[in-house]
Amino acid sequence: MEISTGIRRLGTGIVNAYLVEAAGEVTIIDAGAPSYWGDLPAELAAMGRTLDDVRAVVLTHGHSDHIGFAERIRRERGTPILVEELDAALARGEVPNPSKGLGPVKLSPLLGFVWFSATHGMLRIPRIAEVSTFGDGATLDVPGSPRVILLPGHTPGSAALHVPSHDALFVGDGIATYSVTTGVDAPRLAPFGADQAQALASLARLDGLEAGFVLPGHGQAWTRGVAAALAEVRAAATGG
Ligand SMILES: [Zn+2]
Repeated sequence: MEISTGIRRLGTGIVNAYLVEAAGEVTIIDAGAPSYWGDLPAELAAMGRTLDDVRAVVLTHGHSDHIGFAERIRRERGTPILVEELDAALARGEVPNPSKGLGPVKLSPLLGFVWFSATHGMLRIPRIAEVSTFGDGATLDVPGSPRVILLPGHTPGSAALHVPSHDALFVGDGIATYSVTTGVDAPRLAPFGADQAQALASLARLDGLEAGFVLPGHGQAWTRGVAAALAEVRAAATGG
């Protein structure tokens, strides 16, 4: 579906992947669930584009619910897969998920997420054989020219990607607007984090950044700007 001019989303909001179009070329941000591979041609067509126009897949981090069809597009199309260097081994499946557990859980949303996973190919996600890496502060030479802001905590190499030309900040799991373990529909720290205190502290790196659209890995698009999203996350995290 269309999020804004030049940005479309795969998925209904539980697990998100995004297409960013610039000058007729496309960057895919996160690769969602494996089943999204089947949705990709129609989503590209809605932008007037095809798989031939996809230049890169950029991962916000190495968690399995973000790498869904990455190995498939790499193997079948030769599309490069980019990830922050500290998450490269995780994306390649060489190290275990550093997640420290679920945090608070409500049964119904958690079962909904498990059901989604089971029906979208997420129980067996192919590891990525080869990734290219980037570091904090880099401006990536891919369509949209995303700038990397490292947000360690959810994983060591979690990164937000700022695309000023599209007024968008792709936050990965730095901020979730839907929490798959609790069902909360508002900006929060994502569950399944390696270090939630560090994840909260890392959000200071987004202070002062201008983007109307905050686009998370899980949940609906936030359209009220970065500062308002950060305020909600912080208020919830400190019990306010
Ligand atoms: Zn994650």
